[in-house]
This record gives sequence, C-alpha cells and structure tokens, in this order.
Amino acid sequence: MIEAEAVSWTYGTNPVIEAVSVTARPGRLLGLIGPNGSGKTTLLRLLYGALRSRTGRVTVDGDELPSLAAREAARRLAVVVQESGGETALTVGEMVLLGRGPHLSTFQRSGAADHAIAARCLARVGASHLGARAFAGLSGGERQRVLIARALAQEATHLLLDEPTNHLDIRYQHEILRLVRDLGTCSIVVLHDLNLAARYCDDLVLLGAGGGVVAAGTVDEVLDPAILEPVYGIGIQRLELQGSIHLLFHPRERQDA
Ligand code: ADP
Repeated sequence: MIEAEAVSWTYGTNPVIEAVSVTARPGRLLGLIGPNGSGKTTLLRLLYGALRSRTGRVTVDGDELPSLAAREAARRLAVVVQESGGETALTVGEMVLLGRGPHLSTFQRSGAADHAIAARCLARVGASHLGARAFAGLSGGERQRVLIARALAQEATHLLLDEPTNHLDIRYQHEILRLVRDLGTCSIVVLHDLNLAARYCDDLVLLGAGGGVVAAGTVDEVLDPAILEPVYGIGIQRLELQGSIHLLFHPRERQDA
C-alpha cells in the first residue's frame, strides 16, 4: 500500500501539485489520469521518491519513504519511466538482469536463478527474441517492453509506471496493461488513454489543471462525463458494453474559430 498525504511540488514559482492525497491499495491497479500538464508525472515522482515533497508524507506499507534504505526501497518499488536507459551499452538480457540487483548482496554476482527469472520476465512481455540485441538499438516500443521486464525481474511489491503504453501498438498496449493488472501487486500507472484506464484500472485519481485532485474513486465513479467534460474541455459520452465502460469523445467547435 502506498499512501501520500497532502504532498505538494512547485517548479520554480509554478505550483504543480498542491496538497494532494492518494492511496494505492494492495492488489489493486490505481490509474493517474488528467489532461497534459496536470501533474501526473510529477505526482508519480513524488510517490516513488524521485521528488521529495516539503509538505505531508509518503508511506509504503506504513514506512515513510525517505527512511527506507535504497536496497529496501528497490525491493518494495519498481519504477518504469519513459525513455530511460537509451544511452546504455548493455544488451537487452543484461538490462533485464539489472532488475535483480536489489536481491543480490554487494559483491554477489547474479546466478542461474536470476538469469532464469530475467528470461521469464522477458518472455512475459513478448521480448525473448530480443535478448542478445543492444538495448540502445531497439525501437521505442521494444525498449518499453524491456524496461517493464526489468521492473518485473525486480519482484518488487509495488509497481509504478509512467505512461507505459506510449510507443506501443494496440496489441501490446492491452497485453502490457493486462499483465500489470494480473500481477496482483499494488500498482500505479499514469495513463492518458481513458479507455485503457477504464478497462484495466480498479481505481482512478483525476488531476485537474489547478494541481489538485478533481475526483478519486473507482473507475465507475470517476469516469463520469459530468466530472470529465469540464476537466478535458470535450464532450464525452459513456457507453457500457458487455459490462465494461467505453467513452466516446465529441470535440466541441472552438469558440475562436
Ligand atoms: P503531466 O504528466 O500531467 O503531463 P507533468 O507532471 O509532466 O504533467 O507537468 C506538470 C507541469 O509541470 C507542466 O506545466 C510542466 O510544464 C511542468 N514541469 C514538468 N517538469 C518540469 C521541470 N523539470 N521544470 C519545470 N517545469 C516542469
């Protein structure tokens, strides 16, 4: 469980997150949604400790984040951020093996069990065939899947992902989110596609332009056109097909057109 209480962040003089509280519950997938620039990435960074709020606190299973040693933090939190590791000279296999680091002691080398876990994680994201390739030579979508495999190899109790479906084709958008949901860990995902959020998340936090939470609750509660339309500035129709929510978008004519 990850709990943030009244966390805030300001870039220079620009307050981006103001007194936001969020709870990610065990075994559930929490989606952070909101328009571009509403602070989703900034909030995620506060939740995994890359940014440290001057107000409030963030706890992971009851322990305050700054009090956790790096290795312990890495056993609890695996993070997939956008476009990381592009400059590395590592192969894909070596990259995924890095995920085992928090489980090895300082001078311990990875063993057969670690290699088996890494290979299994690569297979889970459909990337076994890439194992010997240079990570830097992969496409954006291939890299994204490898970074997710590395996070899975970390076997952390919480998984945090920033727009993991960016660069992925439709098949892998669904496969990756289904995989994350089915892990059954406590996970948090930044998503801009509301229909993917509807399909795979359990709970949602909707951020608005003002750096605060506009709505938080289950997918059913938050994906309400009356809540979403003023935030996104677009007409939204909600359909329920075969028990799941689908949103249709109706752009409004620009007033200044
Ligand atoms: P989102 O993920 O919802 O698109 P972000 O958290 O990336 O939003 O950004 C929120 C706001 O903070 C935006 O206005 C963005 O321009 C600004 N911002 C993000 N990162 C920085 C930074 N490193 N320096 C200054 N401003 C930033």
